[in-house]
Amino acid sequence: MIEFRSVTKTYPDGTHAVQDFSLQIPARQITVLVGSSGSGKTTLMRMINRMVDPTSGSVEIDGVDVATSEPVQLRRGIGYVMQNSGLLPHRTVLDNITTVPRLTGVSKADARRRALDLMDVVGLERRLADRYPAQLSGGQQQRVGVARGLAVDPNILLMDEPFSAVDPIVRDELQQEVLRIQKDLAKTIVFVSHDIDEAFLLGDQVVVLERGGHIVQKGTPTEILTNPATEFVASFIGADRGKRRLSVSPAAPEQGDDRVLVDAGGYPVGVIAAPGGRLAVSDAGPKSRSVSNKTDQAGDA
Ligand code: ADP
Ligand code: MG
Repeated sequence: MIEFRSVTKTYPDGTHAVQDFSLQIPARQITVLVGSSGSGKTTLMRMINRMVDPTSGSVEIDGVDVATSEPVQLRRGIGYVMQNSGLLPHRTVLDNITTVPRLTGVSKADARRRALDLMDVVGLERRLADRYPAQLSGGQQQRVGVARGLAVDPNILLMDEPFSAVDPIVRDELQQEVLRIQKDLAKTIVFVSHDIDEAFLLGDQVVVLERGGHIVQKGTPTEILTNPATEFVASFIGADRGKRRLSVSPAAPEQGDDRVLVDAGGYPVGVIAAPGGRLAVSDAGPKSRSVSNKTDQAGDA
């Protein structure tokens, strides 16, 4: 488990990026921090791997304050995937994935074998191993970024708006990959997004943030969708969805214990499963998807 305890970050220029932020992030689940640009998401995420140190308060991983860990050592147990993949342009895909494991003393042959396995995991064809980043599509580059994040087999994977620069169809695929990877590998994933759809799709826990890292609401997607805590959350849910603002119709026909989710035009777009259940959105539109989330996992929370 990752725990933020009354964390504040004021940058040297006086910007109060995060004020008195506390949150528990359960192990082996996906927690999504979602909020507008400037709400402090990146700052919060970077405090986990000490790319940013808090001004006050602490961040603990399994009860140990990260401030007591040596940053480089700490980061070797924490994968980090960023928006613009951050790949080394003059290194091949394979070398990009093996860079950090090689630094930690893994043999070249072992690192290579593992990198090829990871390419399978993230859905990259092995024949791309010798290409350079510029020879890949944006979506492929992000897959390499994810493979690199997983290369040291970290318990924790930090993903900072990793898919916001790829086109929507590729983004859908990558989101599904994340769900699959989390299901197969059971990592603790902290995912930052400004896209509420993405947050609801991926998150076991969704944390809605306002400026200053202020938590407006947190909960499962179902909890937030069925009961938005404030106008801000309600408008946030609506804003990103444009015309198809979602709500649970009070007049929704009951389907067993399930309730039907309807858009602004009254069209059913999904079903909210019975208590404790997860959100299942089946888009009426052409890009159909279903979010039947994982079964409960016994995290060591
Ligand atoms: P988000 O990721 O949600 O967009 P950030 O954590 O990047 O938010 O930024 C939160 C606030 O802190 C913003 O006002 C931003 O301008 C400011 N900020 C971020 N990094 C720095 C920095 N290195 N120095 C000064 N201000 C910063
Ligand atoms: Mg950011």
